[in-house]
Amino acid sequence: MNFNIFSRLKIFSLIKSRLGRRFLFFMILVSTIPIILMGFVAISFLNSSHRHNIASLEKQILLQKEEEIQNFVEEVVSIFQISFNLSIEQLIVEEGGRTKYLIKKEDLDNVLNGIVKENQWIESVYFVDISGKIASFVNRHAGAEILDEGIISSDLARVPFWNRVIGGQDYFGPVNYTLSGSMIIIATPVRNVNGKIVAALIGEVSLKRVEQIIDRTMLGVSGYSFLVDGRGILFAHSVPGLFQKQLDLSFLVRIQNILAGQEQTGLKREDKFTSVFGQEVIAAGKKIPNLNWGIFVEWPTSDAEAIIETIMKQIVIFSFFSLVIVLLVIFLIISELIWPIRKLEEGVRAMGAGNFDYRVKIKTGDELEDLGGAFNLLGEALKQVQTLRNEFVFIAAHELRAPVTVIKGYLSMIAGGAMGRVPARIEEALVPINKAGEGLGKLVDDLLQVARSEAGKIEIKVKPVDLVEETKSVLAELKILADEKFIETIYNPQNDLPNILADQGKLREILKNLVDNAIKYTLGKGTITVNHEIKDKMLITHVRDTGIGITKENQLKLFEKFSRIKAEGTESIPGTGLGLWIIKQLVEKMNGKIWVVSERDNGSTFSFSLPIAIA
Ligand code: ADP
Repeated sequence: MNFNIFSRLKIFSLIKSRLGRRFLFFMILVSTIPIILMGFVAISFLNSSHRHNIASLEKQILLQKEEEIQNFVEEVVSIFQISFNLSIEQLIVEEGGRTKYLIKKEDLDNVLNGIVKENQWIESVYFVDISGKIASFVNRHAGAEILDEGIISSDLARVPFWNRVIGGQDYFGPVNYTLSGSMIIIATPVRNVNGKIVAALIGEVSLKRVEQIIDRTMLGVSGYSFLVDGRGILFAHSVPGLFQKQLDLSFLVRIQNILAGQEQTGLKREDKFTSVFGQEVIAAGKKIPNLNWGIFVEWPTSDAEAIIETIMKQIVIFSFFSLVIVLLVIFLIISELIWPIRKLEEGVRAMGAGNFDYRVKIKTGDELEDLGGAFNLLGEALKQVQTLRNEFVFIAAHELRAPVTVIKGYLSMIAGGAMGRVPARIEEALVPINKAGEGLGKLVDDLLQVARSEAGKIEIKVKPVDLVEETKSVLAELKILADEKFIETIYNPQNDLPNILADQGKLREILKNLVDNAIKYTLGKGTITVNHEIKDKMLITHVRDTGIGITKENQLKLFEKFSRIKAEGTESIPGTGLGLWIIKQLVEKMNGKIWVVSERDNGSTFSFSLPIAIA
């Protein structure tokens, strides 16, 4: 297969070809529609799955942040428990229903100090005995007093959560906003070896760590999270600086809903809304149950959908390039199919025009190549028929020439009186016989010329020839014919015209034929003008008559073999319709051109060009 793609991939000629168009339409239909459909499906699938992805990312962040917060809280609680399980249990005993401390006040203080040291977020710890009295207290900041008298009173029995802790539950208090930041109270029961609750540890824990956890939220470029406490007050936000304002968000229905235990998934229509910061966001939220806080994640849609836009762009680009490649392949395949058909069509046209030497070269290795081979065989067969016909015409014309010459010779002898006086009646009859003889002679000559020309047997010997001399001579030769019809011939050649390169005999033949036609096809009186013109190293000769003229339609077939135009008044003009064909071959063999400009009833100008001989 020949891969000279670009010479064959003539897109416009493909589109012009009807078969090509049909193929193109069908192939484009079956190949591009699936690509476009796939693109659409991918984009719509992406669109719907993207909302789920956004929601699940938000959920993931919610859960992760919740877990980190829970871990932090659990860590604090476990420090409270571990410390006492290991060191105090044996030291607190119950004797006859009374708690007895076997530990000294300083040792208790040491244990509490150890707790504070263990975790940097524990600001202070109280050891409160079962009766609600503070047995020991340690504050991280040396010398500090009890941080908030209102919360940790010396008589804890009156504090509402006290009974819960004594009842065995851990307690996480509401968020308190103090000068040194937000805090919560965490309280845990202290048990003795028998598992009985004997005291409680109450700690004040800074929420700076929680603020850090929220602060480190990573969601796209501008996604953020925040925390509200049980009363709906914003106390941690990943947008820097905002949470310090302790914004009261309890008026927002969605905050109320979350604190009431509902979950916001980011999937529902109402989960996409304009946030308090004025941006359209997709939001998710949930409650952290034991702490009673609400945690929220919001992702501005412009940012969340930026990813999808990039992917969509990629899908579009990918689909586009796939389409381009598919189209190229389609063009290639169709070109491969159409190209040999085109070649065959060209071949058929060439043969129709008589060029039986035309051969097609199709190397596709398939039925089209076979068809090309068959076409070439047909060409050879036709060529043989043509050669045979030419030979036949040549031989027939050649053989006819001698008898015609004899007939013409004797006729002129009889007519001239060389065979004795001719009676008037016979002389009359001799006129049409003579005319027919002339016509027959011309036909035989023309046929011989045609046969020679087609067999490539016409010999042309070019040399510099004086065109003006030849023209004058031919006009003089044909003057009798013109005079007979009262036709004036005008020839005023300009001086110093260059010689031309031509075969003298053939040139005379051409001139004779054109002037003869001009006389023949001028029915009444008229004028024949011959002149010359130099153009592009060629000398052009124009033979203009004022005769019957030729219609545009007839001009097209004028130079074909046996082309005689039927026109009013020309029926009796003898001719073979071969003259113009013969002189066209001659002019072209001498590297010139021949053409006609004419209008019906307005005369014709036949012109031919021949190369100027370089001196
Ligand atoms: P012929 O003259 O022997 O018929 P030609 O090949 O010389 O053959 O001319 C072909 C035809 O062209 C003529 O039959 C005639 O109809 C037309 N023709 C040629 N020359 C002229 C002309 N000068 N004016 C009008 N018609 C012409």
